[in-house]
Amino acid sequence: TNRTFTMLKPDSVEKGNIGAILEKITASGFRIVAMKLTHLTTQDAQAFYEVHSERPFYGELVEYMTRGPVVAAILEKDNAVEDFRTLIGATNPDDAAEGTIRKLYAASMGENAVHGSDSDENAAIEGAFHFSGREMF
Ligand code: ATP
Repeated sequence: TNRTFTMLKPDSVEKGNIGAILEKITASGFRIVAMKLTHLTTQDAQAFYEVHSERPFYGELVEYMTRGPVVAAILEKDNAVEDFRTLIGATNPDDAAEGTIRKLYAASMGENAVHGSDSDENAAIEGAFHFSGREMF
């Protein structure tokens, strides 16, 4: 068993999709270890997407991720990181497989509904950023 970290991004909250997305996540065998509605500061979003800081879409990405609350959660399942990336689908919803969360709920590459950590190491870092040990179950 291991863990991944997710955020249901501001578009998912705005559209009222968080219930449906969480249902899909739990029905796919993920256990919710920790979860909260929170709001990224500009500094949080800039740091979170630091790897993209030289890309032309960086400013828009930071605006998007900070324009409203997100649902942050830690999820547990065997092979969590890889299986969750499969469940959410490709970054661009046009390329995402049928039935994936991004295919169902993402509007575009820029507003793609969910985040999933890309490695065990990043899952641990991202989870620890949002949750203390007392908030993990
Ligand atoms: P995330 O890290 O959010 O889970 P990802 O790992 O699928 O997404 P990355 O390549 O790390 O994709 O890009 C991070 C985020 O930046 C994407 O989810 C998307 O919101 C945004 N993004 C990436 N590429 C583009 C692009 N070409 N145009 C607009 N936004 C983009």
